[in-house]
Amino acid sequence: MRETEQKAARAYREQFGEEPALVASAPGRVNLIGEHTDYNGGFVLPCAIDRRIAVAVGAGEGALYSADFDQTRQIDEKDSSWADYPRGVAWAMGEAGHEIGGFRAAFAGDVPLGSGLSSSAAIEAATALALDAFFGLGVGRTDLAIICQRAENDYVGVGSGIMDQYASLLCEAGAALLVDCRSLEAESVPLDLQAASLALVVCDTRVERGLADTGYNDRRATCERAARMLGVEELRDATEGDLDLLSGAELKRARHVVSENARVLEAVEALRDWDFEEFGRLMYASHASLRDDYEVSTLELDTFVKAAEQHGARGARLTGAGFGGCAIALVPQDETAAFTNACEQAFAKSEFEEPAFYEFVPAAGAELAD
Ligand code: ADP
Ligand code: MG
Repeated sequence: MRETEQKAARAYREQFGEEPALVASAPGRVNLIGEHTDYNGGFVLPCAIDRRIAVAVGAGEGALYSADFDQTRQIDEKDSSWADYPRGVAWAMGEAGHEIGGFRAAFAGDVPLGSGLSSSAAIEAATALALDAFFGLGVGRTDLAIICQRAENDYVGVGSGIMDQYASLLCEAGAALLVDCRSLEAESVPLDLQAASLALVVCDTRVERGLADTGYNDRRATCERAARMLGVEELRDATEGDLDLLSGAELKRARHVVSENARVLEAVEALRDWDFEEFGRLMYASHASLRDDYEVSTLELDTFVKAAEQHGARGARLTGAGFGGCAIALVPQDETAAFTNACEQAFAKSEFEEPAFYEFVPAAGAELAD
């Protein structure tokens, strides 16, 4: 058992005085490339990270315990706390027609929360897989992901695409996941960073994503307008040639979406060819497009990517919606300490908030613990 899984099992024993029936865990994720493409029916390429949330489940009357918050909540009262995520999953399973009986659960995890690494999808996916096994439902992984998305969208009330839940449930160790956000087909793509002597470094700029909601809604609306002007269902269907018909904001936003979708597919080819030079180049190009055409970067994110370029990163880009949050870089394994130092100095020089750095390995999706 992983450490987080042991912790959840221990919490269950301490809270409820007996062994759990089973333990499951699920990871957070980062998106490697393919930003603001999901709601345009396009492609994304996330990978799961080696930070997880675990849940221990057994028969009982609906008590939910979080070891990290040291709180007990009941399953049946929505209260805008962490417990709304497992509640939402149980609710969405019922909505999908699956019989959920009584259960109790204890949670423990180490996904940094609220940093854009999708701790919310991790707790949802762990809960969904555990309940599926505990009640013997036999729901497939993609349907579990849709149930989790429903929990987040309609129960917790946070609008989001399918990427996070897909990544948490479908990723494989040492691989990224190509997701077609229109057909919802997903495919593993090899990403053995260890063998390539590369590290995946994440920089959390710790900038509150203040403008995120307005900015996000504005970009979405502009994309829908651009699609209407081109007479296509979604920008996924637009070609480079179509862009000549647009101008102003519609042109810039659509140019990002069209070029970013192409970059995701090229990035997948690069990974299949083991060509990390090319993969890195595409990451930098993605960032430039998000900065110049989509206009969702910040000075902090740009500073990180610039420092990455100057200090030997193969590629770097903002990840997530932008307006703050995280950026990623692919860095030679034996240079990560010097790399993060150089980035820290660049931030200090600009008098930015001190960033947090993480190093992740592309990890397995949700699993039942043995
Ligand atoms: P992100 O998904 O980017 O981490 P969100 O705001 O979507 O940020 O989700 C964070 C929320 O998920 C937390 O506020 C908490 O309610 C829940 N959560 C995250 N980690 C845990 C945990 N270890 N135990 C219980 N709940 C958690
Ligand atoms: Mg989230």
